[in-house]
Amino acid sequence: MSILVVGTVAFDSIETPHGSAEHVLGGSASYFAVGASFFSQVRIVGVIGRDFPEEYLQIFSRRGIDIEGLKREDGETFHWRGRYHEDLNVRDTIELHLNVLSSFVPRLPESYRNAEYVFLGNIDPKMQLEVLDQLGHARVVACDTMDHWIQGSADALRKVLGRIEILVINDSEARLLSGEHNVVRAARAILKMGPRAVLIKRGEYGVLQFSDTSVFATPAYPLEEVFDPTGAGDSFAGGFLGQLARTRDVSQRGLRRAIVYGSVVASFTVEDFGLNRLTKLSLPQIEERYQRFLELTDFHT
Ligand code: AMP
Repeated sequence: MSILVVGTVAFDSIETPHGSAEHVLGGSASYFAVGASFFSQVRIVGVIGRDFPEEYLQIFSRRGIDIEGLKREDGETFHWRGRYHEDLNVRDTIELHLNVLSSFVPRLPESYRNAEYVFLGNIDPKMQLEVLDQLGHARVVACDTMDHWIQGSADALRKVLGRIEILVINDSEARLLSGEHNVVRAARAILKMGPRAVLIKRGEYGVLQFSDTSVFATPAYPLEEVFDPTGAGDSFAGGFLGQLARTRDVSQRGLRRAIVYGSVVASFTVEDFGLNRLTKLSLPQIEERYQRFLELTDFHT
């Protein structure tokens, strides 16, 4: 079962208390695609500039990711520079250069249009809408966003929220979007905007899932050292949607298992800079940590 993702394919420059990295492969679509590729076939829609190196494209092809929908345009690739605080749950955007992304109009190759599982990764909501308009009947459409778009493209984002099933968002963004400080009230307010389920990412504290009929909470996998949190959210979404597509089980139980798979993938992502850990990962390692996760949260047997 294949998954379509639209999002940023980026150069990331990252500073954490453990060190820094310049111009490494990043972006919401990249983390999502690599995270999901352990479970299902993934197709990327996005844009890169003339400066995007062949070796980064090979990272996708080695994971079997379809890049027919990744367009190369004249100009420079999207570039993000972020700095983490000692508390790794807090980061500042130091630089954001949209570059080729500012004039990007997503065009889906014919073979992408019947995708059943779709992730509208963090990108301008106007582009998320363009993708929705080109899709056939998808089984599950999930979406992410961030403060930059909540503040700058509120109307388009509202339209997106009315057309998706699952919103994946972090706690501070949920507060910003809803105007509610309490995370439970924020989730309730967001459910009224359209999605059937809201997944709230809380960094090292795990994930909360809200729907009209249920609430589910899972911790993050406890690690002694978090090296670089970049991409945790997107690779979480990749593992989550990848597992849904692999099993085609979108029941409440299937969603809960997928949330744990997403958490497992994210826990690997943060063990090294950028995509370094994910590019060395294997499905058996994911399955093994999934089992450890079951032990970690088991209090009823
Ligand atoms: P996260 O999973 O939240 O850590 O996402 C990190 C990724 O988001 C980085 O690889 C960045 O390239 C990307 N990013 C940063 N700012 C934006 C933005 N405004 N829109 C889309 N992607 C972004």
